[in-house]
Amino acid sequence: MIKNRQFKIFMDFDGTISKQDVGEVIFTKFGEPDKVEKIIDDLLNDRISAKESWTKLCAAVPYVDKKQLDELIDSIRVEPTIYDFIDYCNKEGFEIYVLSDGYDYYINRIFNKHNISGLTVYSNHLEIIDGKLIPSFPYYDENCFSSANCKRNHIINHSSDDDFTVFIGDGNSDKDSVEYCDFVFAKDGLLRFCEMERITFFPFKDFNDVIKKLDELKSKKRLKKRHRAQIKRQQAYMIE
Ligand SMILES: [Mg+2]
Repeated sequence: MIKNRQFKIFMDFDGTISKQDVGEVIFTKFGEPDKVEKIIDDLLNDRISAKESWTKLCAAVPYVDKKQLDELIDSIRVEPTIYDFIDYCNKEGFEIYVLSDGYDYYINRIFNKHNISGLTVYSNHLEIIDGKLIPSFPYYDENCFSSANCKRNHIINHSSDDDFTVFIGDGNSDKDSVEYCDFVFAKDGLLRFCEMERITFFPFKDFNDVIKKLDELKSKKRLKKRHRAQIKRQQAYMIE
């Protein structure tokens, strides 16, 4: 009999659970356009770290009206297959961790509006004080360049030798973490990154693709962890 396999699911928020990148939508609307464009370009070309880009982006917003901000957040759509995916993971007993380099302010609001609950979320923190966006980074680690919320550390802290780790993401903030997981589901920018870096991945369009593949992996007679990911996790664990 096959031992019930434990998959730990680590997933991105912006562009993965939400249809759009909420941070980008917010800064495009409220920020000074020239500055915002340059900062995002610097970030995507690895000229500045994620933390530096967030700090600069928030500074590039002269004033934000909270009511307008909330309305904008309320217009964001979520990927409709997320509900089936959460049900599937609950049924199978797979824990889900949402690892976001975005902000709790809009993630909580979007989850509430769309009745998504019961997920553990790690993200950056955002406050709006007198029309200014004030970010803070409770999970910052200087070893993580592409995400101010060091996703890699959450993966290491929440997985044991018995777990098969799964990562699901779409973009820049996932680059530091994919090498630490046994199975990677990638789309868009993350897919191109995995191709370039020769990191094995499964392409996906929506969460139905992920469910199908996990079902397949779950019932395989033999399932191997990714050797490179195991070594990476061990190395990071020793440094900590
Ligand atoms: Mg993303």
